[in-house]
Amino acid sequence: MSLLVVGSVALDAIETPFGKVDRAIGGSATFFSCAARLLHPVQLVAVIGDDYPEEGLARLGRDGVDLAGLERAPGESFFWAGRYSFDFQDRETLETRLGVFAGFEPKVPEAFRDARYVFLGNIDPTLQLQVLDQVRSPTLVACDTMNFWIEGTRESLMRVLERTDVLLLNDAEARQLSGEWNVYKAARWIVRHGPRVVVVKQGEDGALLVEDGRIFAVPAYPLEELFDPTGAGDAFAGGFMGYLAHTDDVTPANLRRAMVYGAAMGSFAVERFSIERFEEISRDHVEARVGEIRALVDCDAGAGS
Ligand code: AMP
Repeated sequence: MSLLVVGSVALDAIETPFGKVDRAIGGSATFFSCAARLLHPVQLVAVIGDDYPEEGLARLGRDGVDLAGLERAPGESFFWAGRYSFDFQDRETLETRLGVFAGFEPKVPEAFRDARYVFLGNIDPTLQLQVLDQVRSPTLVACDTMNFWIEGTRESLMRVLERTDVLLLNDAEARQLSGEWNVYKAARWIVRHGPRVVVVKQGEDGALLVEDGRIFAVPAYPLEELFDPTGAGDAFAGGFMGYLAHTDDVTPANLRRAMVYGAAMGSFAVERFSIERFEEISRDHVEARVGEIRALVDCDAGAGS
């Protein structure tokens, strides 16, 4: 089942307690694709500037990522600079430069328009809407967003939500969007405004799947060393959507399984800078980690011993 993503393809400058990188390969569509392609082929729609390195393109367009919808335009690529606090609990955006995304009009290639699974990665909601207008009859539309867009383009974002089945966001974003401090109340507010399912990512506390009347929680993989959290949310989404597209099953039980794939991919993202970890792992690594996360909450394991 075809899986389409639109989102940022960016160059990032990142500072963590462990070091700094400049012009690292980043962006929501990038992290999403690197994770999802390990489970299912991905069709990518985005734009890069003439400064985007060839080496970056080669790393992005690996097996399983179709770049037919990636435009190159004159100008600067999307640039984001961020800094993490010592305990990784806080992230400060130092700079966001939209570059070529400012004038981007996404054109979904004809061959991508029948996509059954659509991920509207974190990007201007106006562009998310333009992509939705071009896909014919998706089975499931999921969306991600961020403080930048909640603050700056709320009206268009609310229009995207009306056409979205699953919204993925972190707890701070859920609070900001809904105006509710309590995360469960925030999720219920979101469910009243369009999406039938909300996935709230809570960093090292795991993630929640909230549907009308039902809540499911997945723990975060217990990593002892965290290197760079950038892209963890997008990689989570890649695992979640990659699994759904691969199994072509959107029943409540399968959404829960997809959460575990999301948690596994999020944990890989933070183990190295940029997309580096995804260049080392295979489907087998993913399945092994999924098994470990499942075991964390198997309360009957070891019974009788
Ligand atoms: P995450 O850590 O999952 O929130 O994703 C971080 C990635 O999102 C970085 O690689 C950035 O390039 C990208 N990013 C940051 N701000 C924005 C924004 N306002 N719109 C789209 N992408 C962004």
